[in-house]
Amino acid sequence: MNEMKKTGEVKFLDRNPPAFPDGEVRRLAAAVFGLEGDLKPLVSERDQNFRITTAKGETFVFKIANRDEDPGVVDLQVQGLLHVERTDPGMVVPRIRRTRNGEPYGWTDGGDGNRHILRTVSWIEGEELRTQTYTPALMRSSGAAVARLARALRGFHHPSARHPLLWDVTQIAGLRPHAHHIADKGSRARVERVLDTFIADILPGLAKLRHQVIHNDANGDNMVVDPADREAIGGIIDFGDMIHTVLAADPAVTSADLIKLADDVLTPICEIVGGYDSVNPLEEDEIDAIYDLMVARYAITLVIVAWRNSQPDGPGYLVEYEAPMTRALEAFLTLGRDRVRRRLRDACRFPAYCPKPGEKGITDDTAALRAKRDRFLGGTLELSYENPVHVVKGEGPWLFAADGTRLLDAYNNVPQVGHAHPHVARAVARQAAALNTNTRYLYRIILDYAERLTDTMPKGLEACLFVNSGSEANDAAFRMAKQMTGNRGAIVMEAAYHGISEAIDALSPYDLKNRPLRPHVRTLMSPDPYRGPWKDGEPDLAAKYAADADRAIRELQEAGYGVAAFMIDSGFTSNGIPNVPPGYMKLVCEKVRAAGGLIVADEVQCGFARMGTHMWGIETHGVVPDFITTGKPIGNGIALGVTVTRPEIRQAFGEKTGFFSTFGGNPVACAAGMAVLDVIEREGLMARAYETGEYKRSKMRELINKHRYLGDVRGSGLLTGVELVRDRKTLEPAPEETKRVINHLRNNGVLVGREGPHGNVLKIRPPLAFRKEHADILVDGLDRALAAL
Ligand code: PMP
Repeated sequence: MNEMKKTGEVKFLDRNPPAFPDGEVRRLAAAVFGLEGDLKPLVSERDQNFRITTAKGETFVFKIANRDEDPGVVDLQVQGLLHVERTDPGMVVPRIRRTRNGEPYGWTDGGDGNRHILRTVSWIEGEELRTQTYTPALMRSSGAAVARLARALRGFHHPSARHPLLWDVTQIAGLRPHAHHIADKGSRARVERVLDTFIADILPGLAKLRHQVIHNDANGDNMVVDPADREAIGGIIDFGDMIHTVLAADPAVTSADLIKLADDVLTPICEIVGGYDSVNPLEEDEIDAIYDLMVARYAITLVIVAWRNSQPDGPGYLVEYEAPMTRALEAFLTLGRDRVRRRLRDACRFPAYCPKPGEKGITDDTAALRAKRDRFLGGTLELSYENPVHVVKGEGPWLFAADGTRLLDAYNNVPQVGHAHPHVARAVARQAAALNTNTRYLYRIILDYAERLTDTMPKGLEACLFVNSGSEANDAAFRMAKQMTGNRGAIVMEAAYHGISEAIDALSPYDLKNRPLRPHVRTLMSPDPYRGPWKDGEPDLAAKYAADADRAIRELQEAGYGVAAFMIDSGFTSNGIPNVPPGYMKLVCEKVRAAGGLIVADEVQCGFARMGTHMWGIETHGVVPDFITTGKPIGNGIALGVTVTRPEIRQAFGEKTGFFSTFGGNPVACAAGMAVLDVIEREGLMARAYETGEYKRSKMRELINKHRYLGDVRGSGLLTGVELVRDRKTLEPAPEETKRVINHLRNNGVLVGREGPHGNVLKIRPPLAFRKEHADILVDGLDRALAAL
């Protein structure tokens, strides 16, 4: 399908093939290539081609090129084939047969002064793809074959690689002036619209996609099926449209050209593109471009066909494409970009599409998602915000919704180092592509990770038990504490939350109103100098609050349980992030230890540098615990949990109890964990948490004089509590107003949560990727939300 453009004019070469007499052809084949044998002419509108079968039974295609052929383009094709032969020797493409002088092609002057290039390639055995039934397997194989060829051509370049070619989608502007040749008015208008949109809106974006030399015409005529397996492509032929262009044009061309309009046109395309992606993985912008590249291919074909039809010597072989391509273009425009893109993304397991800035997002399916969620996950599963967020993408401290809006995430600590952090994502993908297994085998990453993680912890804590969640980490710690101490009782904070296993649920009285505390559990009054009985500034604050531990210990001992563990989130998150009096934690821990109990520092909320001054929250209280348990932020979203304790505790537990967590500490989770530590270190996230946190709270405190509901602002690093009260004297909590503030912020693009026993504390706990500029957005949003109360 070669056409060339000269000085703005388009010139078809598919005419006036050379007409050398038989005897001369034989002489040339023998003289130039040393080939003799049976000669059979092949149909060609541009060259004079023959199939030669030698006495030994070898078959070749001998080509005498059109006198107008650009020698650079012939050289491009020949060198391309030689390149594939070197880079992927097993790939079935025509092989160059060299001349007797060892050249890849020769010349003849034809006796009339015109010079013609002579070349010979091997004949590829097999039936043309277009004569076959297009099964899903065959479609997949065709995508895979094109992809394999693209991989083989990846490092190939040539001075003529960007020759003028109307079939090149990136040269589509040169074709636009010829669209008027389309006779049918409706069809012409449609094609012109497609071309104009493509040139204005799509083409500029293609420039940043991967480009390389590709086949650009791998259709039903140019692929042959494997004679040994009719559901597989055996080889690719006809490199006449080879060009350096956008890589994704290859799967788009194959998809566009192989389509047979049936009830379901998308399934075969998904097979082709999916097959391509399995061999040569596509990038996100490429998969999103395929719809437009296909539509452009139809438009290009229709213009070229119409133009050929308008030539004095009448329509050529392309005319048979006119009707099916017209219908295919119509069908695709009806389907629309969103639908095609979603199916193609699903086929390659790309995540949901995220609208680009300025693009219209998807608004219509939130209700459908909610109904489906109720059906499959149950209507009781809590959903944040009155106007739930349908998220499709995250990046740093940002979340992106399906409707095209962007939300500042000031709530989530699971993406500790930022949503979809590329370093973590790559580490996970690379490890997943290499190995994922369990702790019954030796592998290095879990050991290196354990060493690196425990290096950040107080000395002596280095025995790791790997699990998959914070709940499991706490469960394991409590089991060990019970075994080690021989006691059964536990002390936790009032309103504490530590997890979902049955044992740990008993230590999570956050929703105490709904059920009684279990008899082996005692809670401590929150050391909250804002709301509690002893206020900031009073003497011996820490001791006054810590005295409650004496009561709890005594009660547990009297009831016969004793104290096995004091489990504590040292950010006191579910208590509303109070401003804990210095020395409180130390005092309580001393009392617990004196009663024979162990200290479990639950770092699920406040670990991994969140507090801004220390890696672990418990360190901010000057206490060395017996256990550090971690979860949530540890893998930036990949399921991982670890209980770290002293070796003797782990040893004693192991001697009595078999403990094996199938997924716990698997290499993929450890890769995520490692990468999280890399990022915290490399990006200086602890220092940033400190700075941003202090800045944010000082800006918020400036609002106290402005808004009467704003009671107190407190916290450390990037863990902040903002308490809302109806009356600053009585401290009457303002839970309804807190809800309204949260929903107002959400509707204005900022996500925060709600905490505390009265539900009147804004929980602000963003990814550590949060910077001052984000804090400004948050404070501004809070200002407006409070003003709206
Ligand atoms: N401990 C604390 C302090 C938590 O906040 C949570 C979860 N919110 C857990 C434990 C439980 O972690 P997971 O959900 O991973 O089981």
